[in-house]
Amino acid sequence: MTQEMSERIDVFLENYREPLPEYLSDMKKYAFENHIPIMSDFTADILKYIIKTTSPQKILEIGTAIGYSALFMSEASNNNTKITTVELMEKRYVIAEEYFKKFDNDSSILLIKSDAMEVINELLEKDEKFGVIFLDAAKGQYPSFLPGLISLLEKGGVLVTDNIFHNGAVLDSRYAVSQRDRTIHDRIRQYLEMLKNNDETETITLPIDDGIAITKKVD
Ligand code: SAM
Repeated sequence: MTQEMSERIDVFLENYREPLPEYLSDMKKYAFENHIPIMSDFTADILKYIIKTTSPQKILEIGTAIGYSALFMSEASNNNTKITTVELMEKRYVIAEEYFKKFDNDSSILLIKSDAMEVINELLEKDEKFGVIFLDAAKGQYPSFLPGLISLLEKGGVLVTDNIFHNGAVLDSRYAVSQRDRTIHDRIRQYLEMLKNNDETETITLPIDDGIAITKKVD
C-alpha cells in the first residue's frame, strides 16, 4: 500500500472513531509539541477493543510517559478496573502524576515510579495477575521482561506490545543501522522468536502502524 493510500485510510477511519475527551486531545497535543512518544490512534483502537471485549479487572502498563495511554485505558475500562502503570523517568512521571490528580477521578490508576524489571519481580513475588498488559517501554529490554510478563498474565489475558518494528528500522539491513539500533533490533527479533516458541501463549503480529504484537495466554 502506498503512503498516500495509508494516509487516506487514516482520514477515512477517523470518521468512525469515537472522539476523545477534550483533556486527552489536549494531552496528545502536548505530547506532540514536546516530543514525548505516546501510542498511536491505531494502538489506542486495539487497546480499547481488547479492554471493552475482555473487561479486565486489572491492567498493567510498562511505560507511562505522561500518562496518556493510562488515562485512555481508564476511559475504556469499567469502574472496577485498576490500572498499574510504571515509569522510570522523573521528568515524565511528575507530569503523569499531575494529569492523574486532575483526571483520574475514581483513582483507578496506580503510578509506580521505578524500573520496570524491579516492579515486575515485585509483582511476581506478590503473585499478582493481570487481564491486560500493555508493554510500551525500552524495546531492548523486552526479552528480559517477557518471562515475567507472561507469568503475570492471567489465563485468557492479553499482552499488547507496541512499536515492534522500531519505526520500521527493524526491517533495515544490519549493516545500514547504528550499533545501538542493531542491538535493539536483535532484541526485538529475539522477543518475537521467544513469543513464537512460547507454548503458553498465542501471538499475532499486526503490520499496523509501527507494528503491534498481540499475545494471548491460552487456557
Ligand atoms: N505508554 C505511553 C503512552 O502511550 O502514553 C508512552 C510510553 S513511551 C513510548 C515509553 C516510556 O517508557 C518512556 O517514558 C520511558 O521513560 C519508559 N521506560 C523505558 N524503559 C523503562 C523501564 N525499564 N522502566 C520503566 N519505564 C521505562
